[in-house]
Amino acid sequence: MAIATVNPTTGLTEKEFQAHAPDEVERRIGEAAAAHAALRLTDYTERAVWMRAAADVLEGDVDDLATLLTIEMGKPIAQARAEVLKCAKNMRFYAEHAELFLAEEPLPNPSAVNASSAFTRYDPLGVVLAVMPWNYPLWQVIRFAAPALMAGNTGLLKHASNVPQTAIYLDTLFERGGFPAGSFRTLLIGAGAVGDVIRDSRVKAVTLTGSEPAGRSVAAIAGEQVKKAVLELGGSDPFIVMPSADLDAASTTAVKARVSNNGQSCIAGKRFIVHTDVYDEFARLFSEKMAALTVGDPMDEATDVGPIATESGRDEIADLVADAVAKGAAVLTGGRVPDRAGWFYEPTVLADLSDDMRLVMEEAFGPVATLYRVADRTEAVAIANQTTFGLSSSVWTNDDAEEAYFVGAVDAGAVFINGMTVSYPELPFGGIKDSGYGRELAAVGIQEFCNLKTVWKA
Ligand code: NAP
Repeated sequence: MAIATVNPTTGLTEKEFQAHAPDEVERRIGEAAAAHAALRLTDYTERAVWMRAAADVLEGDVDDLATLLTIEMGKPIAQARAEVLKCAKNMRFYAEHAELFLAEEPLPNPSAVNASSAFTRYDPLGVVLAVMPWNYPLWQVIRFAAPALMAGNTGLLKHASNVPQTAIYLDTLFERGGFPAGSFRTLLIGAGAVGDVIRDSRVKAVTLTGSEPAGRSVAAIAGEQVKKAVLELGGSDPFIVMPSADLDAASTTAVKARVSNNGQSCIAGKRFIVHTDVYDEFARLFSEKMAALTVGDPMDEATDVGPIATESGRDEIADLVADAVAKGAAVLTGGRVPDRAGWFYEPTVLADLSDDMRLVMEEAFGPVATLYRVADRTEAVAIANQTTFGLSSSVWTNDDAEEAYFVGAVDAGAVFINGMTVSYPELPFGGIKDSGYGRELAAVGIQEFCNLKTVWKA
């Protein structure tokens, strides 16, 4: 894949970049390793000052950055602005909480282990490689980098090849806040060059957010090297609607959950599983609201849904829908590639799915929703759990017993009740099954790339 900004709204290549040569990659890994030696000697207070300053820099750049995100991957401009501001919030969150999350923990009864005292502490691991996707080009990186740097690690970024200008911006962001030079470095490299970086002895761990095949490949190399890995992979989240739900609120939120970021979110509600008593009404409300969305130029504030980020991504969505329709799915709205420049796809709702359709098991990374009619909660859970993914889920019910049942029975990293899944700095984030392993955000997110060291004293 060429390293280039190709505007998905026009299909035109705006800027191309040469991949870093091996000696430049080597130099940058060296910088990150040297910066770690300096950073680990600093304290939380110092790092928090730099992190807050970097957040100020980011906020100051909000308009230029939001425009860049929209040009590089087609996110509607208001959502791009919100992404920038959310990153600044996350940076301040870790500036404030890192010391608490990584505090030493004394053993209350050291005599039980024949010690006068015993405690655990968190030490940074060193240089951590982040392999990141284009769909939230700032947020995915910052939610790794902010805790990593606050813990005293340094970061290397291999960003997706279609967001190189965002990657270059991130290269200097933390230095602009005051972090030692090299604390965070972008590597402009293709996917094929990632393995050698993981194998480098100065690189201690790797995190990947992206597709399942990429995750398998990176985890295999990390495993062979006995290096820690965190994987945040795909999802096909269920959105379950039961008879006691507020259907108007559920259908409005369902639209937002499905088409936010032009439908390209790992935690989007993708499969809408609806109790038969309210299925027809929900299907009507949901389809009408999907059909009413404004599809268009993402730079226009009035646009709800912009283009798919890449031509291959748009073609993949069209193929998934064509496969389902050829096998008997009903199109309640959408289902076509609009006749215009760029890589657009109509907001689409499909019903009457059968197990031979690819959409039943595969992730739809675009504004395409599938509807399932179920007789009861047992059938709802069976469909919710039938994919190989297990990232998040959303359940709509006002029945306490039903709520408790779903919270326990859905196989996912999170359950959101009467709301859509959203990532917050305060909440652990991650999946199970083919959605990956490990967690980001909250306390656990900063602890992932630390050495939990036990100290025992006679
Ligand atoms: P992708 O193709 O896997 O790309 C993600 C990153 O991995 C890019 O930097 C890519 O580089 C790199 N990459 C691809 N194949 C690789 C390999 N074999 N070895 C090493 N690196 C490799 O994913 P995508 O299509 O851009 O992103 C969409 C996917 O990400 C969806 O499945 C989505 O659900 C998932 N996602 C998950 C989360 C989460 O938190 N769980 C969040 C956002 C997105 P190139 O660009 O150079 O190919």
